[in-house]
Amino acid sequence: MKRVLIYIDQDAIEESLDLLEAAEQMYGADSYTAYGLSVGSACSRAEGIVDHLLVIDAEKMSSYDVQNITACIDELHGSYRFNAVLFPATLFGRMIAPRAAVRLRAGLVAEVTEVHHRGNDILLVRPAFSGRMLAGIITKGDGPVMMTVRNNTFTRRKRVRKDTEIHVVHPSCSSPPGVRLIEHRRKEAVQDIRESDVLVAGGGGVMRHIEQLEDLARELNGMTAASRRVVDSGRAPRHIQVGQSGKTVSPKLYIAIGISGSIQHAVGLKNAECIISVNSDPYAPICALADIVVIGDGMEFIQGLLKKIREHRTASSENGFPEAKEYRGNLPGNGGR
Ligand SMILES: Cc1cc2nc3c(=O)[nH]c(=O)nc-3n(C[C@H](O)[C@H](O)[C@H](O)COP(=O)(O)OP(=O)(O)OC[C@H]3O[C@@H](n4cnc5c(N)ncnc54)[C@H](O)[C@@H]3O)c2cc1C
Repeated sequence: MKRVLIYIDQDAIEESLDLLEAAEQMYGADSYTAYGLSVGSACSRAEGIVDHLLVIDAEKMSSYDVQNITACIDELHGSYRFNAVLFPATLFGRMIAPRAAVRLRAGLVAEVTEVHHRGNDILLVRPAFSGRMLAGIITKGDGPVMMTVRNNTFTRRKRVRKDTEIHVVHPSCSSPPGVRLIEHRRKEAVQDIRESDVLVAGGGGVMRHIEQLEDLARELNGMTAASRRVVDSGRAPRHIQVGQSGKTVSPKLYIAIGISGSIQHAVGLKNAECIISVNSDPYAPICALADIVVIGDGMEFIQGLLKKIREHRTASSENGFPEAKEYRGNLPGNGGR
């Protein structure tokens, strides 16, 4: 029976438990014992799901004390001799995993998206070269198979409830933590661009006028989004970035203004229903993706469209027509995306 340790991140408990699916694909459902490691008792959600729950006393160690958690994993490995140690690729998962790999003298594969069994070997797959290639990595040797797993790539299948044994871990190794919690602040809730049907997105071509895109987005009952170029310049917040290192969006209408359409941006658009590209360069890659291409200056386009919308609204109210709330016309289908 193989022994698999899964680090349960307090801020991503479900995502952590999804790693059981990766363990199952490595060893088969009945050929491994799942050990969940958590700090504090907040992880009661893992009861009935893992075979053993190793709970580090929260009074002795906090969930951000990565050095002591690493030492504790080393100590637990000394007792249990795990065959595999899996971490979700969360902020803390990514901080603890490489430290633990050094302690356990094992290799670490980061951001794994697939696992396969090949004879006696385990083949791990991860994206490389900005997602343009997939790299297959075969683990050899006696050390535990160690990996961080990209979020949302495995989904745990519902199984019969297990009788979870709970073990409170009293680490003998703990030293004064190198970090201290000074303040705890809740992040303000922000609207998510993934929920908007209409996105007006700005890129390097209109970077200096990004706030004017908001007027258009408001008129269209939508939200603004941005390319990484704009976000990196500090003119737009990170949470509205579309693309590989931003968000994958699925609006009915995506208006890309002054965006070139680099591969890293385009991957975030694979679920967009209709793309309108406004670009001064007819050969910009986004034009090949778009359903409608407007060649010209982005700011002229915004001002022209705003003028038309406002004129239309005035005419509608003068003629006694109700104001249009939502556009449900036939937009052209997606251009071969
Ligand atoms: C690992 C990695 C991850 C990345 N992740 C992302 C990501 O998640 N999202 C992302 O967007 N990028 C990402 N990038 C960056 C990406 O490679 C591009 O650099 C970036 O998308 C370029 O942004 P842009 O098209 O807005 O700007 P630019 O490349 O500067 O393009 C500007 C465009 O505007 C046009 N233009 C210029 N002036 C006007 C005007 N007046 N009116 C209309 N059009 C005009 C130009 O013709 C051009 O097509 C990533 C890169 C790497 C290496």
